[in-house]
Amino acid sequence: MITTKNLHKSFGDLEVLKGIDVQVKPGEVVVLVGVSGSGKSTFLRCLNFLEVAQEGDILVDGRKIDRKKDDLSKVRAEVGMVFQHFNLFPHKTVLENIIEAPVIVKKIDKTEAKKNALTLLEKVGLSDKAEVYPNKLSGGQKQRVAIARALAMEPKVLLFDEPTSALDPELVGEVLQVMQDLADDGMTMIVVTHEMKFAKEVASRIIMLDEGRIIEDADPETFFNHSTNERTQQFLEMVN
Ligand code: ADP
Ligand code: MG
Repeated sequence: MITTKNLHKSFGDLEVLKGIDVQVKPGEVVVLVGVSGSGKSTFLRCLNFLEVAQEGDILVDGRKIDRKKDDLSKVRAEVGMVFQHFNLFPHKTVLENIIEAPVIVKKIDKTEAKKNALTLLEKVGLSDKAEVYPNKLSGGQKQRVAIARALAMEPKVLLFDEPTSALDPELVGEVLQVMQDLADDGMTMIVVTHEMKFAKEVASRIIMLDEGRIIEDADPETFFNHSTNERTQQFLEMVN
């Protein structure tokens, strides 16, 4: 569903991604881990062209993206993103937040978009919040709206960048539950998270980045119990 080949990204002299090769199959949930500064966010941002990699290829559903010729807003519709800080529009209601991109980017009829949005709100357990403004929601509710908003574009892949890191501990579970439901529905996902219980239970694979390189790409059982990589051991000691 999404493939990268030899992806390189630098900021000035700082090389952040040093040749990343990843293949994510339809329905896979890949959890991406690594210490702060290892390049996780940069990698996700390259995948939906919020950042442009200097070298390497990105293929979505088998098709190589040409950043000069392709319409990047269409690519972003196929590769959705959920951020740590939700990034909802504060001056729009929950419903308006969700229908914005489908109406503007995908030119979907407004009535149809609203109907879809209400179905998505039901899916994330927020049917009663359609007309509410984001500042009336808890962090967990905001993040569930952000997930519904991403889903409204019917993406082929959904990227999550530390979706629960900004939440009070008691609100983390409701967001992880929605993510688990999505995984159970067969959504292809790449998730940056420090929630190792989620990684153990939901991930098809765990990829560990270290200084801009993949140093581990394994199923959870192998990653957590049989890794022989010293950096992985250190990481596991730190998060456990
Ligand atoms: P992670 O998400 O794993 O913590 P990031 O991808 O955010 O790591 O950052 C990797 C490195 O790239 C860090 O050293 C960070 O300071 C640097 N970096 C990230 N974004 C930028 C940017 N826009 N300009 C300059 N340096 C950046
Ligand atoms: Mg990050």
